[in-house]
Amino acid sequence: MVDNKSKLKNFSKTRIICTIGPSSYDIQTLKQLIEAGMTVARINLSHGDSSEHKLIINNIRNASKELNRPIPILADLPGPKYRVGDLETDHFICKNNQTIFFDCSDNLNKEIINIWPSGLHKDIKKGATLLIDDGAVELDVITIDKTLIETKVKLGGKISSNKAVVARGFPSMLEYFTAETTKALDFVLSNDIDFVGLSYIRNIDDIKKVKRKIEAKNRSIKIISKIELKTAVDNLKSIIDESDAVMVARGDLGVHLPISEIPSTQKFIIKIANSMGKEVITATQMLESMTENPQPTRAEVTDVHNAVIDGSDAIMLSGETSIGKFPVRSVEFMKEIAEIAEKNINNKNLRKLRFDHVTASNAQNIDEFIAHGAADIAEQLNAKLIVAFTESGSTAARVASYKPSKPVIALSPDPKAHVSLSLRWGVHTIEAKNLSNIEEMFQFAEDMVLNEKLAKKGETIIVVAGLPIGFKGNTNLIRVITIK
Ligand code: PEP
Repeated sequence: MVDNKSKLKNFSKTRIICTIGPSSYDIQTLKQLIEAGMTVARINLSHGDSSEHKLIINNIRNASKELNRPIPILADLPGPKYRVGDLETDHFICKNNQTIFFDCSDNLNKEIINIWPSGLHKDIKKGATLLIDDGAVELDVITIDKTLIETKVKLGGKISSNKAVVARGFPSMLEYFTAETTKALDFVLSNDIDFVGLSYIRNIDDIKKVKRKIEAKNRSIKIISKIELKTAVDNLKSIIDESDAVMVARGDLGVHLPISEIPSTQKFIIKIANSMGKEVITATQMLESMTENPQPTRAEVTDVHNAVIDGSDAIMLSGETSIGKFPVRSVEFMKEIAEIAEKNINNKNLRKLRFDHVTASNAQNIDEFIAHGAADIAEQLNAKLIVAFTESGSTAARVASYKPSKPVIALSPDPKAHVSLSLRWGVHTIEAKNLSNIEEMFQFAEDMVLNEKLAKKGETIIVVAGLPIGFKGNTNLIRVITIK
């Protein structure tokens, strides 16, 4: 059962995803992260092993139960990436102009650094640049002899086991389901996971392959496509259409595109996702300096602010909460910055962006017209909030996709609706009993806002619902209620 009071007290429109790792997986810290504003917990299956991941999942579920606050879990699949193999030592430092050999075969050789899965030597050409660890180390490819790649270090730094290896301009030709990715998806399918993050997707075929495996297991896991390759940016609209949400995964994006192109690409992805009414997450290095320091930089604060005003539904912390020294403070800062930014959003422009897309693609869509109407009326009447009766969550999601400045309170009898709305900007879900007639629903809405002190007598709320009651995604009713 959802603890409505405490959830509403922690009201923040922008959703905050925290990556959980060594700095944050214990129940006490997880509880602090939830109290500070975490709305979704993320595990990156590229790091750690399955026993660690299981422990993290259990701890998240326990922390969430103890606080009576449901926290959906997102797990990221590695995708078809190349990585540095296991090194003899924890890491090694390479220097500019040093010559380094990499072996791309399946035969592990302790003398030479391995790159796995086997295949990179076939994807690249002499003269290519290899980037390790999101570009922290850069190496020029001098020769390729069968599976052996000779490189010269252009930008020296730390090379550690398991770090991603990328050749800009040469997307990996690996099958989406590498052994690593297959294992990770099997883990997702046999554990209590709500969202799966698809790394390195190139087109909708990659997404469809994952969906087929999810459907075969009869699971209803939501798909978040991580946009990090140029090919994914090129195929953006079809990818968004095929996904439940997208992530601007700036770490890898800044490796595959020149880093200077990230801001415009980020704005483009957010705008297209907003127009198509799908959730969009902005991720990576948002408060990066807080991995070490108790305060973010001015530039980071500005970055978070801009991501929110541009229309991100959710913003994500990675190293800050997984390996950082100040995981809880990072979330507190994130929330504080987001709440100020929310006041500066141009809701009218975002509403128009979405509605223009709807009217251009389907002029007869009643659900969308009602949802848009509810958001518009709420602004015009300066209503206190919008109450959306929703079975699966789709009515509330539809209303929220018009980015009203007023909160959308989703009332649903199905706890799964909470999961499906947990990345949606501006929506707060409250479990409601099944109601059988419309008058009962209006009364329930009035009582709920009064009980929860969300609106006072004399104030206006907008109610959105679908008739007949109990059918999914049938948004056809708006009522304006002045609280008596
Ligand atoms: C990214 O690349 O920005 C990202 C979110 O993915 P990962 O954490 O797997 O690097």
